[in-house]
Amino acid sequence: MHAQLLIYISIIATSGVLNLYLFAYVFRKRHLYKSISTYFLAYVFAIIIYCFGSVFSLMSTDIIELKFWTAIMYLGLPFASPLGLMFISKYLAIKLKRIHIIYMLAIPTISSLLVATNDWHHLYYRRFEIDPSLGAPYFFQEIGIWYLVQGILTFGTMLAAFILLISHYKEMSKQYRSQIIALMFGQLMPMVTAFFYLLGLTPKGIDPVPMVIWVSSLVYLWAIHSSRLFKLMPVAKDVIFNSIDDAVLVLDESFRLVEINRACKVQFPSFNHSLLGMNIEKVWSELFNIPFTVKIGVTEVSLKLNEEKVYQVRLSMLDPLRNINGYLIIFTDITEIKRLQTLLERQAYYDELTQIYNRRAFLQRCETELARSQKKGTSFIIMIMDVDHFKKVNDIYGHHIGDQLLEHIVAICQLYLNKGEIFARYGGEEFVFSLSNYTKAEAEELANTIRNHVEKTPMVSPEGEISITLSLGIAEAERGVGETVSSLLNKADKALYQAKGTGRNKVSIYLKGNIGM
Ligand code: GH3
Ligand code: MG
Ligand code: MG
Repeated sequence: MHAQLLIYISIIATSGVLNLYLFAYVFRKRHLYKSISTYFLAYVFAIIIYCFGSVFSLMSTDIIELKFWTAIMYLGLPFASPLGLMFISKYLAIKLKRIHIIYMLAIPTISSLLVATNDWHHLYYRRFEIDPSLGAPYFFQEIGIWYLVQGILTFGTMLAAFILLISHYKEMSKQYRSQIIALMFGQLMPMVTAFFYLLGLTPKGIDPVPMVIWVSSLVYLWAIHSSRLFKLMPVAKDVIFNSIDDAVLVLDESFRLVEINRACKVQFPSFNHSLLGMNIEKVWSELFNIPFTVKIGVTEVSLKLNEEKVYQVRLSMLDPLRNINGYLIIFTDITEIKRLQTLLERQAYYDELTQIYNRRAFLQRCETELARSQKKGTSFIIMIMDVDHFKKVNDIYGHHIGDQLLEHIVAICQLYLNKGEIFARYGGEEFVFSLSNYTKAEAEELANTIRNHVEKTPMVSPEGEISITLSLGIAEAERGVGETVSSLLNKADKALYQAKGTGRNKVSIYLKGNIGM
């Protein structure tokens, strides 16, 4: 046998053996790799048939043997690149359409059949003979119409796989990039060789592609072995993992940090890959200066980073049913939601100008207080306070000064509230107090103290000193008559009306039947 031919055969046989090894290696571990390994095994299987078919075709001594081994070779060759594309799509989690898969498998099936039966129709090769000058096993061929169809499919699928890999390269985290490069290289080698073959730049009379396949196989072996192709998360999951805005931590069953996503590194810069393998409790207390108190489910956690942030931290088990033990921690930043919630609560219950309770808050709290006092049989008093001739202040000094005067009055009132009284702006320039555990005399004393203080403390403004007086009406809840907040407010209002009607700057108490001054 010609020495050169022997070299060709050895190289192709090496490709075949390497692929057999690849097949056996992945087959043995297929339970670890899940469905992606099925596609890869089918791809490698097609290459094995291709390589060994090629080896035997190169040992042919006549045209019958050559045609037979070519037909065998074609049980693998046309399927290899479509299966390669399917495997790479699976790896990148790109769903191929069923119809595309059908085409990609139907064309190679027809090719296999046509090559086996070529003598009858010459659709694959118009001529397929022993090369007259080189002799067996070198062949001379004139391509037929279906050869073109298969050629387009072979090139198209290899190119598509290559483009898919390139287009996903950028979004991949660094640890997966070497895998992608390996896969790109694995696709590129046969593609370039086949291209040179078509241009007539390779040795005459033989197919050179199986001679370079061993290079691709070695690259795949390396990728599976050292960069753990398939074994880590499929790349698509990695892309999703890294594109979520929420910070995510993956822990193993002993609560050791296994993986962190990109958002985690952005939100918590001190979380980096050097912490992988450490126990989360240790990492947490070192980075956040608080103990790790997160339980399965949702926990709200305040973290002091550069600024105070509130996170909803969700801890869940990975997938114990599929024997994937470990935990997932997802941080959702709810600082803004919390801020808005606090703001809305504040707006709902506090008066914007004076920052004391508003009418809604007063009524709600008063109901509770009245019910409690009725249950305990203790006294409960409501006091209404209205500014005298306030309209005049607005008319003379303007609304702005009127506002300041209201704040001035509130500040004075607050000096005397220390027994858990509820103080609120009831509306306009009218204020209310609810006084638990006050006797009527004590309430009257409080009212007069405030009234006196306001009377004697004019507000200093750019327009000069502005003096003002207050009128107050007091009513105590009557026991055993089903007193309500509304009826009590009504009584206090009547008392206030009395104070106004008798000259203002007065405190008046509601007494059953008549109103006392
Ligand atoms: P009196 O109570 O002594 O009978 O006389 P008054 O002038 O105070 O009369 P009334 O209580 O009916 O008037 C309330 C005025 O308070 C009318 C309105 O212009 C003014 N007012 C209500 N809310 C505000 C406010 O938020 N800011 C300012 N500056 N004025 C207000
Ligand atoms: Mg008034
Ligand atoms: Mg009023």
